[in-house]
Amino acid sequence: MKKFATAMLAGVALSVSLASIAEAKDKVVGVSWSNFQEERWKTDEAAIKAALEAAGDKYISADAQSSAAKQLTDVESLIAQGANALIILAQDSSAIGPAVEKAVAEGIPVVGYDRLIENKDAFYLTFDNKEVGRMQAKAVFDVMPEGNYVFIKGNGADPNADFLFSGQMEVLKEAIDAGKIKNVGEAYTDGWLPANAQKNMEQFLTANDNKVDAVVASNDGTAGGAIAALDAQGLAGSVPVSGQDADHAALNRIALGTQTVSVWKDSRELGKAAAEIASQLADGKKMEDIPNAVKWSDGPNKVEMTSVFLKPVPITKDNLNLVIDAGWVSKDVVCQGV
Ligand code: BGC
Repeated sequence: MKKFATAMLAGVALSVSLASIAEAKDKVVGVSWSNFQEERWKTDEAAIKAALEAAGDKYISADAQSSAAKQLTDVESLIAQGANALIILAQDSSAIGPAVEKAVAEGIPVVGYDRLIENKDAFYLTFDNKEVGRMQAKAVFDVMPEGNYVFIKGNGADPNADFLFSGQMEVLKEAIDAGKIKNVGEAYTDGWLPANAQKNMEQFLTANDNKVDAVVASNDGTAGGAIAALDAQGLAGSVPVSGQDADHAALNRIALGTQTVSVWKDSRELGKAAAEIASQLADGKKMEDIPNAVKWSDGPNKVEMTSVFLKPVPITKDNLNLVIDAGWVSKDVVCQGV
């Protein structure tokens, strides 16, 4: 009888531990996208989904369609749907604050994805954005070491816009101070929208009688807008332009010679890391125990964050093979029309 009871107890213990393993596998990770229509986020999403599915976790998501207000209700709805962890690509780094505080108060870990959410209880996973800015400016400066420069900056509510610009300025400061480079136009691009970048570029061209020698655009979408404006004045191809994201259209423009550089941030890696970090945090792992996590406090409010930074890679005509060999894009797409 005693033997039987022991066996029973062991059975209970076994089923309890199996249940907790099953629970750990069945986590729900909610991803809040800010502007999913952009090409790059679809690659990020595929990577997040694949990593979650491989771990037996569930992916749920919402797209704020560039609305900071909608993103607040999106996050609430992801929580209501049972998210055990959140990955948030913030449309507006300040406006998202209350939603993040609510999640944290409910014990739901938050990963600030790609863009900073300056709350010490949120994890910050991104590429080195200042370095992206340096790479953009350097590639343009290499081919145009003097003249009139225009800066097509990112969305003002996205801290990346200023990180990129500060990296760009680090590279160009000396030439600006020496009077070799003149900043003849600088504007944020509302919502990162290419159409807004195009409008800003048109205005800078008009204001400078088309005397613009270089364009430091902060991503490939805005580069596309700026190049459309240059093209309308017969200037595409003679004015260097930067970007980032290794969007397929941008890589094709690099091959065609209308864009000088893109910065490749392998979002397949970022997405995979986000899924793994979210899952580990949901399992109770401490932020500082996440592999490769560092302390970082270079945000606008100097809040000390726990972060992981991945490395960006500049892509010019000389190393387009890198993205092709990595299976990021096919040669046909890159070389279309060349
Ligand atoms: C990202 C870029 C992206 C931009 C627009 C930035 O925060 O770092 O990769 O192109 O947002 O979505």
